[in-house]
Parts: sequence; C-alpha cells; structure tokens
Amino acid sequence: MAEANTPLPLTASRSEQIFPTLTSAQIARVAKHGCTRTVRSGEVLVEQGDRAVPFFVVISGELEAVRPTGLTETLLLIVRAGQFTGEISTLLGRSAIGRVRVRQDGKIIQLARESFLTLVQTDAELSAILMRAFILRRAELLAQGIGDATLVGSSHSADTLRIKQFFTRNSHPYTYIDLERDADVQSLLDHLHVSVAETPVVILRGEAVLRNPTNREIANCLGFNEAVDETRVRDLVIVGAGPAGLASAVYGASEGLDVLVVETSSPGGQAGSSSRIENYLGFPTGISGNELAGRAYTQAQKFGAQMLLTTGTRLACDRKLYELEVEDGTRIPARAIVIATGAKYSKLAIENLSRFEGAGIYYGATFVEAQLCSGEEVIVVGGGNSAGQAAVFLAENTKHVYMLVRGPGLTDTMSKYLIRRIEQMHNISLLIHTEVVSLIGVDHLEGVRWRNTKSGKAEEKNIAHVFVMTGANPNTGWLKGCVVLDNKGFIKTGPDLSSEELTGAGWPLTRRPYLLETSLPGIFAAGDVRGGNVKRVASAVGEGSIAISFVHQLLRE
Ligand SMILES: Cc1cc2nc3c(=O)[nH]c(=O)nc-3n(C[C@H](O)[C@H](O)[C@H](O)COP(=O)(O)OP(=O)(O)OC[C@H]3O[C@@H](n4cnc5c(N)ncnc54)[C@H](O)[C@@H]3O)c2cc1C
Repeated sequence: MAEANTPLPLTASRSEQIFPTLTSAQIARVAKHGCTRTVRSGEVLVEQGDRAVPFFVVISGELEAVRPTGLTETLLLIVRAGQFTGEISTLLGRSAIGRVRVRQDGKIIQLARESFLTLVQTDAELSAILMRAFILRRAELLAQGIGDATLVGSSHSADTLRIKQFFTRNSHPYTYIDLERDADVQSLLDHLHVSVAETPVVILRGEAVLRNPTNREIANCLGFNEAVDETRVRDLVIVGAGPAGLASAVYGASEGLDVLVVETSSPGGQAGSSSRIENYLGFPTGISGNELAGRAYTQAQKFGAQMLLTTGTRLACDRKLYELEVEDGTRIPARAIVIATGAKYSKLAIENLSRFEGAGIYYGATFVEAQLCSGEEVIVVGGGNSAGQAAVFLAENTKHVYMLVRGPGLTDTMSKYLIRRIEQMHNISLLIHTEVVSLIGVDHLEGVRWRNTKSGKAEEKNIAHVFVMTGANPNTGWLKGCVVLDNKGFIKTGPDLSSEELTGAGWPLTRRPYLLETSLPGIFAAGDVRGGNVKRVASAVGEGSIAISFVHQLLRE
C-alpha cells in the first residue's frame, strides 16, 4: 500500500528544472522516437531493480514513482501531463531505484533506452532539458539519501569508509546506519542474521544482504556492468576514468567512436578525491572533484560511451587487434587503446600504517572524510596543492589543522592563492621540517607522534585523523613492460621515445609515434600516467581530448 506521502521535497526555485513540462512541439519530437499507448491505473511500468528501463512522457493521466520499503511505499514523485520519468539510471542503463506505476488512466509515449539515447544525442534542446532534470533529480535523491541501498557499519571501520566512498563517488544514493549511534541497529542485524563482526553490510532493495562486500560485488549486484558486452570489438578502449580518460570518452563517443571505459573503482580518479578544484577553467567559484567527474561521466554516457567497473590487469599487445585483459580474465578486443590510469598516492613509511588506512589515515579530503572529523583536531601531511586544498577545506569544520611538511616552507611547492588562504586561517598551524614518526591506536587511530628533523624534538598528540597528501606514483605496474617507461615508471610517448627505444620495442611502422602514442602503434597515453605531463586536471583533460584526434588518424591508416 502506498503511504499518503508528499512527493520528494524540492527547492522551489529548482522545481521547474527538475520537473519541466514539455511543450506540444517537444512532445511531438519525442513521439517520433517511440510508441504511444494507453495505460490503466495500477499498471506497473517499471519495477525497482529492472535494468535498461524505458523512458516515458505522459500525454494524459498520471504516473507515480515510488520507493518500495518492505510492505509500504514512499511516494517520490507524480508525473503529470507533459512531464517525463527517469533519472541518471535511465541514461546509464542501470537498475531502477524505484517503481513506476500508472496513477490515473491515460496515454503515454514510451521510448526504449536505445531510442532515448538517440533522442538526447540528436536533439540539442530536449537533451539540455532532459539531462538537467536527470542530474538534478539524482542530486535530490543523493541529498536525501533516497535509494535502493542501505549501509550498516562503524565510522571507525576502513571498509565502511571504502563502501561510503564507492557509493558517493559513483553518485549512487544510499542510507547509512551507524553501528555506534543507532539504537535500533541490533534488531535489524538480528533480523538479517548478521553478527556485528560481519559488518559492514550492504542491503540492496531490502533483499540482497552483502557482508563486507568488495566494490566489484556491489557493482555487480547493482547491475553497473550488466549492459556492457565485453566481447564486442571496440574502436577504442580507455583504461582509467580520471579526467584524462573521461575526456577521451566524451570526445571519442561524441565523434562517433564505439568507446568502452574500464575503471577500477569510480569515475573521477585523483580529481574525485579533491574537495574543491578552483583553477579549472570555467568554474570561477570552484567545483568539487566528484561533481566535475559526475558531470563528465554523464556527458560521456550521453554520447554512448560505456563503462565497465573492473581493473585492467594486462595488455595483450602481441597482435594487431589489441586486447585488454581484466581482473576476471576476460579479454576485451580494441582497435586502439588510451591508457589513462593516472597515479596513486604515496604512503608514509610507517610500519603499522596499513592498520589505520581508512580508520584514521585518509588519502583524500572530501565531504565523506570531513564528516568523520568534524569538530576535532586533524593533521595534513604534505606541502603541495592537494595538501593546501585539504587543509583549507578541513579547517572549515574541524577544531584545528596541523600541516606537517618536511621542507622549509610552502613557497616552492604550493600555489600562492592557497598559501595566502592558509595564512589567513586562524586554525591552521604550519609545522616545517616535521615528519610523522609513529601512529598509535588499536583498531583505529588514536594518537600521532611527530618529530622536527632539524631540532630532533618530538611531540605526541591525541589526534585521530591524518590526511596524507604527499605526491603520487604512476599506475603502470599492470603494463608489465608492454610499453616503454621512463626511469620513474611513467609512460614515454611521441617525441620522448628515442630511435633506439623504438627499435628495441619492435616499432613496426615507417612513421614515428604520434604525439601521445606509446612505443606500440595504436596505444596512447594521456594524463598523469604519461612522462612529462603537467599534473593538473586541465592538462589531463587536454591530453585525453587530443588523443582522440590521433585515434582517428590511426583508424584511417
Ligand atoms: C587531493 C587532490 C587534489 C587535486 N587538486 C587539483 C586542483 O585543484 N587542480 C588541478 O589542476 N589538479 C589537481 N589535482 C591533480 C589532478 O587531480 C590530477 O592531475 C588529475 O586527476 C590526473 O588525471 P588522470 O585522468 O590523468 O589520472 P587520475 O585522476 O589518477 O585517474 C586515473 C584513474 O585510473 C584508474 N585506474 C588506475 N589503474 C587502473 C587499472 N589498472 N584499470 C582500470 N582503472 C585504473 C584509477 O582508479 C583512476 O580513477 C589534485 C589531485 C589530488 C590527489
């Protein structure tokens, strides 16, 4: 039975954009892509969990979107004449978050997902209206935690944090129940036959109970990878969905290439772990890395690029048609490959570090981590821009931020605007020539000891949150020597490859490699993973886009 709920509460100023009413001319253009049919009250058009769901426009009558919760339902929205159903999962072909049912007899236009994609790719005016509504609807669901997933865990658990990050960075709405704070949690766990030791647990659609699942298990259960045909020969496979990979996906797919992006965890890469990027062109007030990534990902999907959440483990590069091997052994064939696997954070050389990763030691400072240390003292280690951003962001909601840098100051390593902000914040202390020497705690971090390398003076503080922002190393280990790397492990491309290196690698063509081409024809590298790249979002985006023009040249050869 549906409860007498009001539809999703919305910001009045945005409701026109979230629930726009199409004009009759716009409805006529939608109708050309689908079929018109009558519907009767009570008919279920989409069931929660359905994959690749159709898109509906109401001509007369009413539809309702509800979220089933056990025997009851929560009304999410009513779709009236001229309005349409759907949100981001309609575009991505992922499982439906709610149920769509006919509320009042009437007539609707129904578009299969493929026809819907054609519509948004070919009709610029409708594309703008539909995409904006979808993005804003998802934002509302995220803001209100309305989704088909519930996470039960402890705020001191690294796996709970990992799963929270997975949901957040994949923009999948979820409800969080804190083991330590929620009084009713024990009865819920008893009902599910789950012991506290088996947490965190993820409950999907009130049915599937996943005990401390891997990201891949959650992705599979939510059907993230289901719409992807892994055996099809693609024009382009992109490995990594950071800014470089996403830019390649947007340009490649919009220019007609059949594109598949393979990503280990979630779109956004390192940029996704940034609380606010302020120097990216066109965003004068800054944008969070997650928001930038979410928009880029939606844009790539709009043009038909697909994404597979899995890890590229090997390139089968001994043949003309390349194959990317992924973690379950599947080989994805491709005419061209863009490697955009970026870099991963450096770690502190401390023996018991791994015990506290995610339970006091963090490598990104976003809203998810900031919630864990609100009102407390924190440490940021590092003197680069990412450390500066983290310190300024965390200072807003924490009691005090200690910035620990090994060098004599920040001027050689950090942008001036960030240094000025740090100086202006009364609750940030800069400790130069200082390094962390030990971490204290049992199952989560409780204290930190640091030492001044000049004076030798050590100090211990009861601080339970340390943000490590000390640079990154290239993600090239998985290539296992398939392409030529420089002495730091970054991929060499174009003019950086010497004739000797090309001969040694067996370069088979009379032409030299294109600008971003590696020592293997048709395999390109873009972004932080490439030797000589400037480590910035803009340069990653630029390189990812430029790579596509070389892919076109290659496919014409
Ligand atoms: C906290 C922080 C703040 C930053 N702030 C700014 C800023 O304000 N301005 C700015 O210009 N730059 C900033 N940077 C730098 C910027 O984020 C990077 O230069 C940019 O993200 C590089 O993009 P990329 O796509 O090359 O690589 P990455 O962002 O590193 O993305 C690589 C992706 O590849 C995936 N991957 C890796 N290996 C595999 C594999 N084997 N199979 C499948 N997928 C794989 C990863 O999961 C990742 O998603 C910041 C960096 C950090 C860490």
